Amino acid sequence: MTHFGSSAFSEVNEKVAQAGEILGIKPGVISALSSCEREVVISIPLRRGDDVEVLTGYRVQHSSARGPRKGGIRFHQDVDLDEVRALASLMTWKTALIDVPFGGAKGGVAVDASKLSPIEKEEIIRRWTRSLVHVLGHHRDIPAPDMGTDAKTMAWLMDEFHRLEGFQPACVTGKPVELFGAPGREEATGRGVAQIAAATLEKNDVKVKGATVAIQGFGNVGRYAALVCQELGMKVIAISDVSGGIVDKKGIDIASIFNVKSLADVQADERIGAADVLEVKCDVLIPAALGSVINERNMDKINAGFIIEGANQPLSIAADRELRAQGVLIVPDILANSGGVMGSYFEWTQNIQEFSWPIDKFRRELDMRMEKAFGNVHKVSKKYSVDLRTAAFIVSVERVAQAFEMRGSLV
Ligand code: NAD
Repeated sequence: MTHFGSSAFSEVNEKVAQAGEILGIKPGVISALSSCEREVVISIPLRRGDDVEVLTGYRVQHSSARGPRKGGIRFHQDVDLDEVRALASLMTWKTALIDVPFGGAKGGVAVDASKLSPIEKEEIIRRWTRSLVHVLGHHRDIPAPDMGTDAKTMAWLMDEFHRLEGFQPACVTGKPVELFGAPGREEATGRGVAQIAAATLEKNDVKVKGATVAIQGFGNVGRYAALVCQELGMKVIAISDVSGGIVDKKGIDIASIFNVKSLADVQADERIGAADVLEVKCDVLIPAALGSVINERNMDKINAGFIIEGANQPLSIAADRELRAQGVLIVPDILANSGGVMGSYFEWTQNIQEFSWPIDKFRRELDMRMEKAFGNVHKVSKKYSVDLRTAAFIVSVERVAQAFEMRGSLV
């Protein structure tokens, strides 16, 4: 992740410190909440032909103050310890914000997932699980998919975990529906992003029907966000993935392209670069691919009224400041993409109870809880006269600090 002059983790901690100051929380407590409880770095030897390539893997557990640590595992060439720390701490703030009984963690392997065969991917996740089994478990730390990993990867993780520790399907979420997954989990992040986009438009007296949307990323988050935006009556006019982007001012029919492997395979009159989608004139911009994609280099070219952060940390601190000054309303990642961990929470509870919900119950619960979290952040932003990101951190830092102090962690 490219961060200009600061690290991804220190950018999160800046927000934590700011919330702590507004709330009058003791500096020592803020400093504890700005550190990670445990960081494990492993090597993963991967067979490559006759030789071996050694990859680096990570699991960072940021906080268990409010419950077992929870967070995805990412396979991407840019993964490093700083990025994993930042993402682990974002999980702490996200789970607290939506009030689910989890802490925060994140994992990763520095590898280009697009260049791995299925067998290599399986070898990597099995090795990652074996090396980390002592810190994982349904009441310790529960992984989930993130960039470069999916339901199938989680099935291998669960299988490896079962071989070592016995049956415990709640040890990981985001599993295939056929293998202890929950119907609704796969779409949950994107659905939440689209619901938050609609709620934001409504709160700001902009009509949802016909509102124009541009989305970067057509993976798990971007694909479902695009589909549900369309279902809610918005018009998705531009979308991109790693292969490039397509534009149609009349609105792209997302349902008809939903299952394509790559946007390069879609017929389109107008094609743009993968990053150009961020500069398309639209009502709602949804970055749903990588971090730090809106930064000093392109912040002057953003042409949207609202930014809904589908990806984690898609804006640099400078871009966030500049765009807010220009009047762009930004809904922060820890709120906008929290549908994923909300859905994971539903899957986890169903696994523990050995009981499964029908998808309409899952969607109802998700929509209701996302609406509640959005309303709460909005209320706090008015109360303290702050932007939505600061308000979201105020809510979550207060909850985690309270739990931390009540547990007596200082003695
Ligand atoms: P994914 O691997 O399923 O999809 C990533 C998408 O981004 C793909 O379409 C890929 O082609 C595209 N992409 C990659 N590089 C790009 C580039 N340079 N320009 C344009 N597009 C590019 O990943 P995902 O699960 O959809 O996650 C996307 C983001 O959302 C990540 O930041 C992740 O941390 C965050 N997130 C995911 C979840 C979840 O439940 N999957 C939950 C919360 C947050």
